[in-house]
Amino acid sequence: MAPETPGLHHVTAIAGDPQRNADFYVGILGLRLVKRTVNHDDPGTYHLYFGDGEGTPGTNITFFPWTDEGRPGQFGAGQTKTTAYRIPPESVDYWRDRLESRDVAVDVEDRFGETALRFEDPDGIEIELVATEGATDAIPWADGSVPTDHQLWGFHGVTLAVDSVDATAAVLTDVLGYELEDESDGRRRYRSATGGPGSIVDLVETDVGRGRMGVGTVHHVAFTVADVEEQQRWREAFADHGLSPTEVIDRKYFRSIYVREPGGVLFEMATTGPGFAVDEDPAELGSELVLPDHLEDERERIEGQLPPFDGPTVDASD
Ligand code: ZN
Repeated sequence: MAPETPGLHHVTAIAGDPQRNADFYVGILGLRLVKRTVNHDDPGTYHLYFGDGEGTPGTNITFFPWTDEGRPGQFGAGQTKTTAYRIPPESVDYWRDRLESRDVAVDVEDRFGETALRFEDPDGIEIELVATEGATDAIPWADGSVPTDHQLWGFHGVTLAVDSVDATAAVLTDVLGYELEDESDGRRRYRSATGGPGSIVDLVETDVGRGRMGVGTVHHVAFTVADVEEQQRWREAFADHGLSPTEVIDRKYFRSIYVREPGGVLFEMATTGPGFAVDEDPAELGSELVLPDHLEDERERIEGQLPPFDGPTVDASD
């Protein structure tokens, strides 16, 4: 039987300055910095993970902050256009006021019967908060910037921009098990077979040409996989579709494979475990720089190379 994914595991993007990045996601959006580590493939760059109170899969947006000297990205085909979080329907006014009072310009859009607040983060990455009925598995963070009643509910979904939707749509339906749910204004909405939080992928076509990866763009989107046994079945499913998945890579907090879908978007399939408590006390998540074992001997040199970052500023004022 083909494997199934409930939906998104995390989204990883490229930011500029790490301090500004953390101050936005923790200070304004109220997420928790659940892991402060380095890019395992490039230890001169931080890897910051922001999520709910425990960094539950399906709530985490992560960044490689390349600093403001890093190469700017260019939005285009083959990229994630928007990353959307769910909020409770009664929190729409709270969020609009909170964002606008901090000089974040907000567009309000009604789409498929839901209200979406759309804005950009300080590096130009498009984020939406979508008012969604239902429940959430997200775990509130009592010490956060935002009252627990209004905190983000984990992912709603992502919008992927491609030259032509057909090949990407075929991967969603034939490999990932998503189903076309709705279509409006050039937007096709797909939902995972299991539904629930983070289960939406919207596809839109763009004619601006291929995007270029860099500061202000999303690097990849990750979908949730149960465990490493299922990971092998995912590798076979992608290969049967003519794609070339990587071997399983140990990312310490999860195990991953990567595959580039035909529209150009990099997909990752990441296991739910072992999670962020594997190298830190759950109460202390994100409070210090943690390194993978093979880099621990080089800690002093690595810390000396990293850009200034004092940890996020919490902003609990209304
Ligand atoms: Zn990833």
